[in-house]
Amino acid sequence: MSVSTKISLLRTELPELVQLVAVSKTHPAELIEQAYAAGQRLFGENRPQEMRAKYDALPKDIRWQMIGHLQTNKVKMIAPFVDMIQSVDSERLLAEIDRQAGLCNRQIDILFEIHLANEESKSGWEPIDFERFIASESLQQYHNIRVRGLMTVATQTDDMEVVGREFDALRLLFERLAPCFGAEFDTLSMGMTTDWRTAVAHGSTMVRIGSLIFGERDYTVAR
Ligand SMILES: *Cc1c(COP(=O)(O)O)cnc(C)c1O
Repeated sequence: MSVSTKISLLRTELPELVQLVAVSKTHPAELIEQAYAAGQRLFGENRPQEMRAKYDALPKDIRWQMIGHLQTNKVKMIAPFVDMIQSVDSERLLAEIDRQAGLCNRQIDILFEIHLANEESKSGWEPIDFERFIASESLQQYHNIRVRGLMTVATQTDDMEVVGREFDALRLLFERLAPCFGAEFDTLSMGMTTDWRTAVAHGSTMVRIGSLIFGERDYTVAR
């Protein structure tokens, strides 16, 4: 099945208000162009160099989503054009995004990544630390970022009950904290190839789907 057919099928299955991020990391520009031809505009990448190269090569109305752990010294590489940074996992990173956005005279939309999976390796804020951070009001010093919502990567398991509980936890945290933000706090980014249906059933407003659209990733190819 072609990339554009897969995008169209997904679109017919996703509720209208759920945004689709096509996760194109490791995949070449030609495949992104096929998705683009099918009307796809949101694309997810996890490496700044790769995102920058694709931004330079591809149509400028593509909205690039950073979804991977971002080192502070790499923020400046994507700050001029990135549409949203979904993987904000520390205040240090937030401060650097705010600084670089200011240097570019723009605001950058962000999501806070929350760690809910029972895997040590996944990044993101522990919910308790995150609630403390929000309560501390230190966010108020950052004027060049716009907090749009929360993101999480669920535990890698076939047990959709476990995954569903994690998505519920993210939605509850989102609902509890929403009064601290304005109406622009509207994005709950959860769900990938293996668990997007569960995510949608648990209130996701944005799914990030890679392999289902583009096929398996080949990490052996130099990028
Ligand atoms: C790679 C990645 C995805 C997409 O994963 P698939 O399983 O290929 O759909 C989604 N979110 C994040 C944070 C990722 O790193």
